[in-house]
Amino acid sequence: MTTVSLLQQLIRNRCVNDGTADSGFEHRSVATLIDFFGVAGEIVEPHPGRQNVVYRVPGRDRDAPALALLPHLDVVPVTEASWRHDPFGAEIIDGFVWGRGAVDMLNLTAAMAAVFRRYLTGELPPLPGDLIFAAVADEEAGGKYGAGHLVAEHWDLVACDYLLTEVATPSFRTETGLTLPVTVAEKGPAWRSLRLGGTPGHGSQPYGTDNALVGMAEAITRLAGTPAPVDISPGWIEFITSIGLPDELVIRLTDPDLLDAAIEELDDPAFARWVHACTHLTVAPTLMHSGEKQNTIPDLGSASLDVRLTPGQDQTTLDDMFRKALGPALYDRIEIIDDLDFPANESAPSGPLWDAIGAAADELAGPARLVPMLTPVLTDGRFFRHRGVTCYGVGLFEEDMRFAEALSMFHGNDERVGVTSVGLTEQMLAAVVRHFGVNTDETR
Ligand SMILES: [Zn+2]
Repeated sequence: MTTVSLLQQLIRNRCVNDGTADSGFEHRSVATLIDFFGVAGEIVEPHPGRQNVVYRVPGRDRDAPALALLPHLDVVPVTEASWRHDPFGAEIIDGFVWGRGAVDMLNLTAAMAAVFRRYLTGELPPLPGDLIFAAVADEEAGGKYGAGHLVAEHWDLVACDYLLTEVATPSFRTETGLTLPVTVAEKGPAWRSLRLGGTPGHGSQPYGTDNALVGMAEAITRLAGTPAPVDISPGWIEFITSIGLPDELVIRLTDPDLLDAAIEELDDPAFARWVHACTHLTVAPTLMHSGEKQNTIPDLGSASLDVRLTPGQDQTTLDDMFRKALGPALYDRIEIIDDLDFPANESAPSGPLWDAIGAAADELAGPARLVPMLTPVLTDGRFFRHRGVTCYGVGLFEEDMRFAEALSMFHGNDERVGVTSVGLTEQMLAAVVRHFGVNTDETR
């Protein structure tokens, strides 16, 4: 089975995670992987059907650092009618594999499996340290049945020092060569719910009533309309100055006072969203509920917010923003509930894995410059960074796949990946693992 046909099968397995415990069906793709490897792995199934599979190839040297490949198997739901081709057909059309998961992240899952298989079967000699492959469930709903479970309950299975996972994005062509983004950091979720009480009354006489729906709608409008706190980190400055943008634009995108106006002028909406998310606390209202009956003034309104903090922001940043946005009267009346907090986290862009990525990029696309990148999305890397593991996300795409175009495919319509890109990502990961072995070989 080739890497591309593995990717096609993973797409066709339809491991759709809708956030409920009984969705996901990752056991299908675990079976596909076991078939691909021809060797049974360690299966961990915290809920029926929610399978993870882990393999470990022991290294030659007990003291050498271990490297793990951590792909996820699940994908997010689709709106089938909005797709140009079957989202689970995995057809190859004009050189692209179409389907949900093509860039998030079954392309990497297939490439990682292909790289790992050579070590598992003995085609390639072991690395100095252990090489682990852990294909996991439930990344798209927070990792409770996947990476979160493995790290909390089965650390012995997945223990490692270095790790590769998402997010892989296309690179940038600049005047001096290729700039390859490497995901080294992610924002932290600070999900909140809001509750606001009112006074019930008859819908026929609304004058002067304390309607919780109206109050909650006002709160949401204020939160969504208030400029969010900006964080221009050294990492952001390094990223935005490295990707070949005009100097004048770079100056504005790194100046907190000019940033918001500059984002408004960006042509590509997907890139604008990315720039905004990487430099701001973001508040996305996602759920709202109020009322029981059409002729009754509601006495309770509730809403849920997806809030994300940059590595430089904390609870105080959030509190200040909420107080300012809501105003003293509403702020005092609304109960704010903490639903999920996980700190933003990052790995240093240095060391044997970083150097291995640099050497691999030079080999395949050189001369290439690596640039550390923050991602606004959650990845399974956070569970491992929390344990002190150095985690990156990297791949290699064909050059006509643009950065912003790929971003819009994550959880979007018409997700697809070039057959050439799948091959490049596999070559890239193979070279990274090989160079990591060289870099961690004490005997050389
Ligand atoms: Zn993903």
